[in-house]
Amino acid sequence: MEQTLEVFDRLVRELLADEAKNPVAEHIPSATVYERLDLKLQKDGISTTELEAALKDLIFTSPRTATTGFFNQLFGGRQDKAILGDLLSVILNNSMATYKAAGPQIAVEKTLLRQVCDIIGWGEDADGTLAPGGSMTNFMGMLMARDAFNQNIRFEGVQQKMTVYTSIESHYSTPKNAAFSGIGRDNVRMIATDDQGRMDPEVLRKTIQEDVANGFHPILINCTAGTTVLGAFDNLVEASAIAKEFNIWLHVDGAYGGSVLFSDQYRHLIDGVENVDSFTINAHKMLGTPLSCSLIVVKDKKNLHNSFSNDASYLYQTDHDGFNPGKTSIQCGRRNDALKLWVLWKSVGTNGLAAIVNKQFELADTARDYVRRHPDYSDYSVDDTVAICFNYKGILATELCTALYEHSELLVGYGSFRDDTFIRLVTINATNDTDDILNFFKTLETFVAENDVVFKK
Ligand SMILES: *Cc1c(COP(=O)(O)O)cnc(C)c1O
Repeated sequence: MEQTLEVFDRLVRELLADEAKNPVAEHIPSATVYERLDLKLQKDGISTTELEAALKDLIFTSPRTATTGFFNQLFGGRQDKAILGDLLSVILNNSMATYKAAGPQIAVEKTLLRQVCDIIGWGEDADGTLAPGGSMTNFMGMLMARDAFNQNIRFEGVQQKMTVYTSIESHYSTPKNAAFSGIGRDNVRMIATDDQGRMDPEVLRKTIQEDVANGFHPILINCTAGTTVLGAFDNLVEASAIAKEFNIWLHVDGAYGGSVLFSDQYRHLIDGVENVDSFTINAHKMLGTPLSCSLIVVKDKKNLHNSFSNDASYLYQTDHDGFNPGKTSIQCGRRNDALKLWVLWKSVGTNGLAAIVNKQFELADTARDYVRRHPDYSDYSVDDTVAICFNYKGILATELCTALYEHSELLVGYGSFRDDTFIRLVTINATNDTDDILNFFKTLETFVAENDVVFKK
């Protein structure tokens, strides 16, 4: 183990030094990846020296998600204290099903969830758990909604026509989860949005009324706090009034933007969150922990027990259910995803978490301001988000993003809203500063100038 840790230490130091010089890794086309890298598994093993060389080649050519060249997705950057926590959870290798196997790590997870519930303003009935990503925590939300509608579905299977409501701008996990849960993709109603990308409450209400008239059972309204493309926040106050009116479970998919909960300055974007039934936050997005760290909290914990508990005498041998979170999780053996966020939070405090969130909005304001001030750019962004949507000199976003990637200049993606397709710069990496954002535009502009011929129409 000692020697292995030395290898780890060397590899990481070399990688970090190289990242500082080359923020974007060498681009290896997928067609040539098996020729370029020695990935084949052989009958006989190799020496540690050979292994280290093979690993170096592999990690040096892997996409760099923590550098000033990565703006591709809704995660990025490295919060070093969170990494410390995650590395320790690997070494400890506790499984988060029982107190017997994870001991105080269970209390770490419980503390984390308790404090999130406290910040929302929920009392002792509230609780939560973690699952491997927002798609999965959203799935848990949907299952609880389904079972809260009819507790027999768990035993008898689905026999009623149920419907689910989410905006057309919401994440694709909702239709996928509808398939998994027996509700069916065709029974997901994709509700129109306003011109800021927020679910239209009047369309929502009318669609529910029509479904009820047609014999459907509406069981879930899924609101999004931070839509994938524009970063828009659905209005939770209006949605919760509708959920109450029709007695429907209200879940908030805050995988992307839910962490505004920690910021006094931006919490207003999720005003009304205390009135929802369940709420998902991906700490590996706005808070910058390593993948994955996804929390779901629920106002009434009996729903967690109803949907996820199963007796297993080989497993639950000591302590009461409150300390055996295997009774409320989707997995059996479960990775300790709580420790990384707990270490970060312990280290920087709630104010530090707020500062991480606020920094991203500040960087986004810088970027939006740049785009709006420079006539070569067309702007598609909405305010109060960390997604900056634009096109440059009328160049097709798809082409420009791919060219920047293939030339190892920048990793940035594109998205669409209504009839427009545009580049989407996400300022999710709170370890960047203003200069890194301005440098993004400089790199893009220089690249276009030097590759003019590529883009000529
Ligand atoms: C990222 C995201 C998800 C999915 O989360 P994963 O952790 O990638 O599974 C769901 N909803 C929204 C709004 C997201 O941004």
